[in-house]
Amino acid sequence: MVVGKPLFTVEQIQHRVREIADAISSDYEGKDILVVGILRGAFMFMSDLVRAIKVPVVIDFIIASSYVKTDSTGEIKIHYDIREDIADKDILLIEDIVDTGVTLNHLRERILARRPKSLKICALLDKKERRLVDVPLDYVGFDIPDEFVVGYGLDYDNNFRNLPYIAIFKKTV
Ligand code: 5GP
Repeated sequence: MVVGKPLFTVEQIQHRVREIADAISSDYEGKDILVVGILRGAFMFMSDLVRAIKVPVVIDFIIASSYVKTDSTGEIKIHYDIREDIADKDILLIEDIVDTGVTLNHLRERILARRPKSLKICALLDKKERRLVDVPLDYVGFDIPDEFVVGYGLDYDNNFRNLPYIAIFKKTV
């Protein structure tokens, strides 16, 4: 197993996180946000992001896993659901990486069914080439090519989440 050199360094990530937080603070001026992180991958991004957001936030989480049977069908299992009452709230959903879009699309529809005042989505990484379902992304950290990445919350078999940077991961044979 090989973790390559950083695709995005600590400095690049921190700089981009601050830019996104500034955009969010300005877009939500005068409002409160219910920030919902999708665990486990988004934990590090979310914790940096919310510390840089300047409007009041309430934090909640959702834990979901996808069981993709083919490239076009995915089944999503919810292990922990949002506890806050989301009706009439401004929700900001935080995802680590959008790949096919299946997971995020499912969660988006699930949240919209509970009638929030608004729902925006913030993803750290966007692997556009792999998209199967079109999901609207309001804030994106970085576009990336079709490579498997680890670090800054993202795992391979639950390892490497603690790396402070993002790197391409190659499985050696
Ligand atoms: P989607 O439903 O968009 O296909 O899948 C999104 C989920 O797949 C992400 O939340 C993440 O858990 C996982 N994923 C997709 N691409 C990568 C990747 O390059 N690295 C890691 N660590 N996880 C990925």
